[in-house]
Amino acid sequence: MLMDTHKRWQAIINRTLSDSELFFYGVLTTGVFCRPDCSSKLPKQDNVVFFNSIDEAKQAGYRACKRCHPESTTQNEKRIAQIISACRIIDQSEEKQTLEVLAKAVGLSTYHFQREFKKYVGISPLQYGRGVRTARFERLLTEHKSITDAIFASGYQSTTSAYQDNSLAMSPKVYRAGGKGVNIQFSIKSSKFGYVVIGVTKRGICAIHFADSPTLAEITLRERFPQADIQEADNDLQALIGATVAYIENPDSQCELPLDIQGTAFQQQVWQVLRSIRPGNTMTYSEVAQKLGKPTAFRAVASACANNKLAVVIPCHRVVGKSGKLTGYRWGVERKRALLENEKES
Ligand SMILES: [Zn+2]
Repeated sequence: MLMDTHKRWQAIINRTLSDSELFFYGVLTTGVFCRPDCSSKLPKQDNVVFFNSIDEAKQAGYRACKRCHPESTTQNEKRIAQIISACRIIDQSEEKQTLEVLAKAVGLSTYHFQREFKKYVGISPLQYGRGVRTARFERLLTEHKSITDAIFASGYQSTTSAYQDNSLAMSPKVYRAGGKGVNIQFSIKSSKFGYVVIGVTKRGICAIHFADSPTLAEITLRERFPQADIQEADNDLQALIGATVAYIENPDSQCELPLDIQGTAFQQQVWQVLRSIRPGNTMTYSEVAQKLGKPTAFRAVASACANNKLAVVIPCHRVVGKSGKLTGYRWGVERKRALLENEKES
């Protein structure tokens, strides 16, 4: 399916990579071609020409951009695009899809498809499908449909298989009473610390993760919320997403973004303490534990930091080892260093 010109131009403005269609754009005045997510200055729309492939751009006499390196669009990224399109098929299917059908749809052998899917998504296609159906089931329940309607509408074959298959902690009845929302809209942006995926529920921002490519960013989010119904953010959310990126790049202010913080009671206590650390300052794991009145719980504090889903907004990068050593960071120690240096500068 080809995107129309307007959509392609929007993708360039937003610097997003579409995983439904990869395309490139050339700039008439410079003779250079780029990926849609290139961070160089936005060209005039009149000077932009679109290409469906690298070959097409080169045949038209364009040179690859030195900033976004369109030619390093590797096998790896193509594979990720295949896996994401399989996720999309599963997301949109009313019924359970077999491995054979999914593999064929994305052009891989069943064996490779199964193996590659697991490698990138972390779970098998069948587990992923179960997650999607559970999420759909949960959503239908919160929309106050009857339980039987919800079971059939979410692609389950029978009432009993719904109970066997879904991983709800509560029974559907109890669940519906709780009315937990698991609909996540997301957007991927580039920031000075790399790509960042921002996930938003009805209650607020539920995920901020860094990643090295837009596709990996999306996979990270899906991996983190395998049960959720995940869609690209609509225009209404763009202001909030812009504000979030601005905050990540310049956190020297009180964070007033709406947050949807999910975690155990202990994790929430730890994250509360982290949010009290001012930009540019750090605390050690033991100091955080002491502040919680549980001085021996520094390992549990480290684990709560590792489970943080909201990079920078819950500043787990401001927690360091004894004598200020930069210990692990789930988005990479180099990124932790860059975040801390950025705060010292401002
Ligand atoms: Zn470029």
